[in-house]
Amino acid sequence: MTVYAAPIKDMHFVLSHIANMQSVQELQAYQEASQDIVNAVVEEAARLAETQIAPLNSGADAAGAQLVDGSVKPSPGFTDAYNSYVEGGWASLSYAPEYGGQGLPDLLAAPVEEMWHTASLAFALCPMLTASAVLALSKHGNDSLKEQYLEKMVTGEWAGTMHLTEPQAGTDLASIKTRAVPETAADGSQQYRMYGQKIFITWGDHDMTDNVVHMVLARVDGAPEGIHGLSLFLVPKFLLDDNGKPGTRNDVHPLSLEHKLGIHGSPTCVMSFGDNDGAVAYLVGEENQGIRCMFTMMNKARLEVGLQGLAISERAYQQGRAYAMDRVQGSNAQGEKLRIVEFADVRRMLLLMKSQTEAMRAMVYLTAAEIDKANHGEDPQARAEAQARVDLLIPVVKGWCTETSQEVTSLNVQVHGGMGFIEETGAAQHYRDARILTIYEGTTGIQAGDFVKRKLLRDNGSAMTSLLQDIASTEAELTESGDALAAVRTALAEGRETLQASVDHLIQQAGSDADHHGAASFNMLMQAGVVVGGWLMAKAAVAAQRDLAGADADRDFLEAKIKTAQFYAAHVLPRAESYKRIALAPSDVVMAIQEEQL
Ligand SMILES: Cc1cc2nc3c(=O)[nH]c(=O)nc-3n(C[C@H](O)[C@H](O)[C@H](O)COP(=O)(O)OP(=O)(O)OC[C@H]3O[C@@H](n4cnc5c(N)ncnc54)[C@H](O)[C@@H]3O)c2cc1C
Repeated sequence: MTVYAAPIKDMHFVLSHIANMQSVQELQAYQEASQDIVNAVVEEAARLAETQIAPLNSGADAAGAQLVDGSVKPSPGFTDAYNSYVEGGWASLSYAPEYGGQGLPDLLAAPVEEMWHTASLAFALCPMLTASAVLALSKHGNDSLKEQYLEKMVTGEWAGTMHLTEPQAGTDLASIKTRAVPETAADGSQQYRMYGQKIFITWGDHDMTDNVVHMVLARVDGAPEGIHGLSLFLVPKFLLDDNGKPGTRNDVHPLSLEHKLGIHGSPTCVMSFGDNDGAVAYLVGEENQGIRCMFTMMNKARLEVGLQGLAISERAYQQGRAYAMDRVQGSNAQGEKLRIVEFADVRRMLLLMKSQTEAMRAMVYLTAAEIDKANHGEDPQARAEAQARVDLLIPVVKGWCTETSQEVTSLNVQVHGGMGFIEETGAAQHYRDARILTIYEGTTGIQAGDFVKRKLLRDNGSAMTSLLQDIASTEAELTESGDALAAVRTALAEGRETLQASVDHLIQQAGSDADHHGAASFNMLMQAGVVVGGWLMAKAAVAAQRDLAGADADRDFLEAKIKTAQFYAAHVLPRAESYKRIALAPSDVVMAIQEEQL
């Protein structure tokens, strides 16, 4: 079993120096989020994550969730941990006060959610899916639905799910077939009966909560074909009685649980609607506007999955570091035994893990801060700018952090040598658990397509130009920081120039080569991740150097931050050049081969 210690120092450093927590605390909506509150929240969340959730992670991997008599039984210990989570008020942290939330910033939720996911991805998926359902209902539900369901979901007393996928409809939601038939309820209001099957539904059923509130995409009978004929529905596991309490079981049931590569503690359900009388469903928003409702949640949901990439990388890094400090192998010229951490190649692996994990943290928290400013900024211009930055960064956070988590968790296996391949150490679990992250909530291919088409081509590179200008400003700060950070400055400037070249080429090719953006998109997304990560590590190095001058400076931490940024500049940022060369390759290289030649 692997031990988890929340990286509280780095969290606070990133909150204040990269994400500029102070600027979020100055927003009218977040006046209550004093530094004392921030400190207390982070400290208390760490306690729950470290002591109660993290110790369950490997047991949940071994036991998994079970389907017993048509009902999902969570992995051992999860129900107690979930009860502690709800009793501690953690579910409602960043929800709006009008629905019973605590109204704290998304930026503060970022380290807290990181800790839940690092402790156990499988466990934290349940509140994560509930958060998506809450967002959909609060933005698009009518007053009656909100009154009946929202508060219980906000407190975590009831869980939520998201039902999109069907066997023939994964990425292509336009093919969804689940039907909703309108009818008049006993009280004269309109409701629907739902029929169909959904697959791959995370935490689709369980008894950790008294009710499970499903948000389901389906097609009303007679609605247009395709994406614009989809509507969003709320389908409770238990219908509410006259007192608003869970009563009769609705006609929605888990049919089976998937046997899968990782996240065994998270039940992935095949769900059936309408095997008997039809599942009672309530419309959320308007008919045929389901996709618009889903778009509302997309940024937040994709940020969360990017954050999962950060979280699992942190867990893998902590484990790899502990193993490398301990494992004795070989000896030096004097015959003294060496621990593997003393070998340069092992240090290289640990630094690849550490530096990219810290870059991910900076990227995720910065994006969360921009979300707060986009939602609550006082000035409309500032709100629009923050939203443009969020829209640009979301596919990068989702795509790059999750792809990089594959590398980091794989490096952890490598640091362990043969023991990494043996389940007993737990290194393999992190590697297996991470594998889903590049797939759900839009595959990396879909993030890459979104990045080049909607985020770069649609505004002719304008949001990216503003980001590149900010990177150039950091280069100027690095110059002022003197010789110590000169190599970081050079690497960052080169990275920025390569990214600029790929974007210019993309825009240039848009009219002439229809396949270019598809062929180049993945490499451009990875290039953006590497460069933005390098930018934020460089900012961290500048801030660390400034803080070192303070009388009570934490020298060990700050010097480590600078050395980690220097490593990233030397070993990770140069990857931007390779990505550029691939992005500039003609699309023929990808498309000329015939299907039968593949
Ligand atoms: C463990 C797990 C949990 C999940 N949880 C949920 C959940 O809670 N709710 C839910 O609704 N769904 C859930 N999903 C489903 C998940 O979101 C889908 O699996 C994912 O969106 C991909 O769809 P697909 O599996 O049909 O793959 P496909 O869409 O068939 O994709 C296969 C490959 O083709 C590529 N591809 C497809 N279309 C395009 C395109 N237009 N352009 C370029 N490339 C393309 C993809 O990138 C991918 O590499 C879950 C899945 C798993 C495995």
